[in-house]
Amino acid sequence: MSIRNYKELDIMTYEAVIGLEVHAQMMTESKMFCGCPTKFGSEPNSQTCPVCIGMPGVLPVINRKAVEFAVRTGLAADCTISSYSRFARKNYFYPDLPKGYQISQYELPMCEGGHIDIVVDGVKKRVGLTRIHMEEDAGKNIHEGTGNYSFVDLNRAGTPLMEIVSEPDIRSPKEAAEYMKKIRAIVRYLGVCDGNMEQGSLRCDANVSVRPLGQKEFGVKAEIKNINSFRFVEKALEYEIKRQIGILDDGGRIIQETRLWDPSTNTTQSMRTKEEAHDYRYFPEPDLVPIVADEKWIDEIRDSLPELPDAKRERFISEYGLPEYDADFLTSEKAIAQWFEDAVKAGANPKAASNWMMVELTGLLNEENKNMDECPLKPVQLAGMLRLIDNGTISGKIAKTVFEEIYKTGKDADAIVKEKGLIQISDTGEIEKIVDEVIAKNHAEAERFRAGDEKLIGFFVGQVMKLTKGKANPQVVNDLLRKKLS
Ligand code: ADP
Ligand code: MG
Ligand code: ZN
Repeated sequence: MSIRNYKELDIMTYEAVIGLEVHAQMMTESKMFCGCPTKFGSEPNSQTCPVCIGMPGVLPVINRKAVEFAVRTGLAADCTISSYSRFARKNYFYPDLPKGYQISQYELPMCEGGHIDIVVDGVKKRVGLTRIHMEEDAGKNIHEGTGNYSFVDLNRAGTPLMEIVSEPDIRSPKEAAEYMKKIRAIVRYLGVCDGNMEQGSLRCDANVSVRPLGQKEFGVKAEIKNINSFRFVEKALEYEIKRQIGILDDGGRIIQETRLWDPSTNTTQSMRTKEEAHDYRYFPEPDLVPIVADEKWIDEIRDSLPELPDAKRERFISEYGLPEYDADFLTSEKAIAQWFEDAVKAGANPKAASNWMMVELTGLLNEENKNMDECPLKPVQLAGMLRLIDNGTISGKIAKTVFEEIYKTGKDADAIVKEKGLIQISDTGEIEKIVDEVIAKNHAEAERFRAGDEKLIGFFVGQVMKLTKGKANPQVVNDLLRKKLS
């Protein structure tokens, strides 16, 4: 169906209602119900056994670590941890699910309630959680080659997943993307999921409906399946909201359906309607005992929780006097926060360290497609370089060169400065000679400056810096130039 051109007004008179179901692959060594490894990228079907390929007569055994990870996540999101929880069979048949059912949870999930807080455009917002439950992932169907056949790789079959289901509390595509980013940050802080969206370790189904502003009841929703990037969740929802408003404005009605996001056309396409929806015929999994989580164990897990992104962000603002923007960046990843605090411990000024990390360090890491865990520069080396700026040994400009050299060679700032003769010239006599030379060579400009063209000061500073290879103390240069040109 085509989309009308809507006027701004239409968009303003409707409100979007969104709920996300986020699937996070848990970072356990072995699978949910067997001992097969969960490693990504191995030879197809090399990580399988009778349990995860669904041979008859075998019995699954619950992975204790996976339960612990789900509980960890639940505690971090302020959920109620169920003292009695159980697995259920969700029946459907696809070749990538060889048992003919997926072991999941239904009426008794591991965690219930709770919330995730997000900040959008400076406004804090709380998104309620419905539940967090555990389930096993399916394998992968591969459709390639020219023959009339497909392949199945069951390495992923049985990998432990958590499904984090939100209440329909989200109101815009941007909030949805922020919510997903926050979940990624939290699971990575907790060490329960690597958050690798390209590999599918974190993905979501986005449910969305629209309603006239002021209406209490929700509209009919569409579910957009299997979105694996923050950008896609935002774009898919933007498209879908417009599509639904377009239909309502044309006097049509929304049908409940499952849709697929197509990144090549930036549209969503219908996959199946409610009539074609699966009847999962859930029933309690008879091969597994219910999980009875004892208080002591849950308390132990609670005590082992790390400081989480929100708390760290608040602390960075109050303890280091950082702007919110800096605190957001520094706490976005545990490794970045750790690096920053190590630099401060080594004597770096917090705001200076933050600036160098946000601009230069991020730039260098991005060039090589590296993340913070792979950063070759050590926090103590940044602190050492900042010391050289503070005591006037090098200028801020030279520091950029020094910083790159530290990054590339692993040598300390002191050594690089000595080796390359980068020490700042603060000797007034030496600079004065060059200033005189520059003024003498640029008569016309000097006259114009004296006649009031103040902007030319930049030109003169530039000339002096050129002759000193950027090593002159900028403050001294400025002072001398103004004195001589007055
Ligand atoms: P279903 O039974 O179709 O799976 P659920 O009630 O389990 O639907 O909800 C699945 C997800 O959809 C949840 O994240 C929930 O918040 C969201 N959701 C439910 N109703 C709506 C609605 N009318 N509009 C948008 N999202 C919704
Ligand atoms: Mg559901
Ligand atoms: Zn197995």
